[in-house]
Amino acid sequence: MKKLLPTSTAGSLPKPSWLAQSETLWSPWKLQDEELTDGKQDALRLSLQEQLQAGIDIVSDGEQTRQHFVTTFIEHLDGVDFQKRETVRIRDRYDASVPTVVGAVSRQKPVFVEDARFLRQQTSQPIKWALPGPMTMIDTLYDAHYKSREKLAWEFARTLNQEAKELEAAGVDIIQFDEPAFNVFFDEVNDWGIAALERAVEGLKCETAVHICYGYGIKANTDWKKTLGSEWRQYEEIFPKLQASSLDIISLECHNSRVPMELMELIRGKKVMVGAIDVASNTVETPEEVANTLRKALQFVDADKLCPCTNCGMAPLSRRVARAKLNALSAGAEIVRRELSI
Ligand SMILES: [Zn+2]
Repeated sequence: MKKLLPTSTAGSLPKPSWLAQSETLWSPWKLQDEELTDGKQDALRLSLQEQLQAGIDIVSDGEQTRQHFVTTFIEHLDGVDFQKRETVRIRDRYDASVPTVVGAVSRQKPVFVEDARFLRQQTSQPIKWALPGPMTMIDTLYDAHYKSREKLAWEFARTLNQEAKELEAAGVDIIQFDEPAFNVFFDEVNDWGIAALERAVEGLKCETAVHICYGYGIKANTDWKKTLGSEWRQYEEIFPKLQASSLDIISLECHNSRVPMELMELIRGKKVMVGAIDVASNTVETPEEVANTLRKALQFVDADKLCPCTNCGMAPLSRRVARAKLNALSAGAEIVRRELSI
């Protein structure tokens, strides 16, 4: 029988201090050339070991081989000029200097496939691999070529589908697309965002997931959250269409956020990765707090479809805190597993 409530993480985990600056998002590498290649693989092994030791069931690379969850993928594509930069507003929240789309985008060679193959060799546990979603990708660029967000998203979806098919062939069990932009541009999500995501998963036989959160615990995000009022109902706008989509799993932020749990009723039937760990705080959850979040979620998610998870990536946290949070997630899931088996 399959294990009930398999635990997982949203994606990134802290990098060791010899590879990149600790507790810093998007920190540059400290190594170069062959040392960097070896260093990334060593960090991946370490990150995997920490997940296994904490009892995490669906493991990942902890995103040890990438600097940024969106731009590392885009850097490997043709058609985007990283020297030519423009300032744009990201997710309607903060200004950033971003690269420019100067021509047709295409993927000439695999981006993460070798890394995924390496992870596959290290473990027989189910593995999950994260890619950026098409809408979040276009929101991180200035487009001087297509002049259409929809057209560019569609082209990115095509390149993501090529990568996803090769990740599947490398033995990845779950391919996850990170779409924090889904929490911001509701009309576009419903008009073409979900369709673009479905293009990205076309023809895949492995499980597919979409991760939609309120972001890392950085100031621009915590300031934005303060403007959202006492109830965060963003998910309500997009869940009906996601429920009807071909995606298998939806990964959500729950613990310590103001998302009303009953919104999960709108995606009943899908597997749900329920965020039971707050990534914007150094306070480590108790197993009982994790169990409480999971018990509440069980009112709206069938037990065989619930995967306890983190709210988002843990890259900016210290390794000590991240490890403790993984342990809490595991222990909290075990409490509820025991309750369910009585
Ligand atoms: Zn996230």
